[in-house]
Amino acid sequence: MTRPAEKNPHERKPLTRRGFMGAALGAVPAAALFGREASVQAPAQTQAAASARIKEYRTLGRTGYKVSDIAFGAGPLNNANVLSAAFERGMNYIDTAEHYENGNSERAIGQALKGRDRSKVFLTTKLNMVYDKRNDKAAIRDRFMKCLERLGTAYADCLMIHLCPLALVKHEPYHEAFRELKAEGKVRFSGLSSRGADYSLSGRIDDPVETVVMAAAEDGRFDVVLCTYNYLKGDAGDRMLKACAEKNMGVTLMKMNPALTNAQEAEMLVRLRERYKSQGKDLPEVLVKLAQVSADRTAATEVFLKKHGLGEPAQSGGAALRYCLNRPEVHCVCPSINSFEELDSFIAISGTKLETREAEMLADCRETLGSSTCRIGCGECQAACPNGVPVAAIMRYDYYFRTAKREKEAMTNYAALAGVDAASCADCPGPCEAACPHDVPIQGKLILAHNMLTLP
Ligand code: SF4
Ligand code: SF4
Repeated sequence: MTRPAEKNPHERKPLTRRGFMGAALGAVPAAALFGREASVQAPAQTQAAASARIKEYRTLGRTGYKVSDIAFGAGPLNNANVLSAAFERGMNYIDTAEHYENGNSERAIGQALKGRDRSKVFLTTKLNMVYDKRNDKAAIRDRFMKCLERLGTAYADCLMIHLCPLALVKHEPYHEAFRELKAEGKVRFSGLSSRGADYSLSGRIDDPVETVVMAAAEDGRFDVVLCTYNYLKGDAGDRMLKACAEKNMGVTLMKMNPALTNAQEAEMLVRLRERYKSQGKDLPEVLVKLAQVSADRTAATEVFLKKHGLGEPAQSGGAALRYCLNRPEVHCVCPSINSFEELDSFIAISGTKLETREAEMLADCRETLGSSTCRIGCGECQAACPNGVPVAAIMRYDYYFRTAKREKEAMTNYAALAGVDAASCADCPGPCEAACPHDVPIQGKLILAHNMLTLP
């Protein structure tokens, strides 16, 4: 297929050139795997990647629908041509929401669907009922009908409660609205999404992802979930997937690749030490401790990279996606896509299998470097904080800033936490750290995040 030009003036420009996956790990630009940061491919690789097609389809639980293992996460979508190309290359699951790109994601999907056989695509949209609290039955119906209008379609395959807190799993007005809409042929399946504890412009949620998803499985009325899962998740993630499989639920994933950024952390600590010094002060004790931990882990990272033939931790990205797809309970992964480059990157993963040495590498990564990284969505430490600081949300903004290069979004979101941000962390005994089951030196990380995310 000839590619249409990418004309959309609002599309984000490439920010940096990042390394490719090592050939042994699959030709996937690390940056694309980590989110919105774009990268540049070598011509030969681009041509090969551009001709790649989806190679594997899986039955989406009890929906019975065969979906592409790599799905189209339309969170940032504003270019319908990219989605059209995805359809041509065999992608058939799209995840969107009423508010993505202020409704333009759904509009772009509507454009790309024009003239296509609607039955060949599984389309999921979502309503965020924490952010927009109009959630009685009439409002839910009204909001969903507006989704259909933007999508230019008579029905959605799945309607989800987006970022569902535990309290909304049994929100009867939603279930009643869904039953009516289903009877009217406007929607086929029900679902929910969860990325765990959250505190953002979307509202405050304290429930871990596993708690919400397992409650949904127990409730029995949800056919499909979109949830955070990755190789650092451990037992809680295993229990969550098992609960979904027992109810034959469709399982779609987001945030499949946690970032390991301790080298950046060490650099930031050096700069912070200089700043304190210029003010005639010593680095606070908690940061001295973090600097030591960080130095140890940086050394461990170097050993890890050498051992596995990697140039940087990000090069584990292809293996991280294959790890998720290697789970039989998982039906597709939904990376965010809005460029041909990202499309090429992710389609290249379709149908590839996790190799033994990749599984060993990820296990080693979890063992040696896992405590460097906050799991972000788990939030297990938050109840220990006397000041109500939303640890998981702040670590997510830290991830947006440092790894996904969405600096403005990260800082804007952080500014909205006024009153409960991490400003108080420097003068605290740090009970959150003792409460973290993953041994993450979270207090120092919060102080660093506060420095990084606060507008000067
Ligand atoms: S610091 Fe630990 S407990 Fe808190 S959100 Fe991160 S991983 Fe979870
Ligand atoms: S360091 Fe103290 S104030 Fe900061 S999140 Fe932890 S417990 Fe709360």
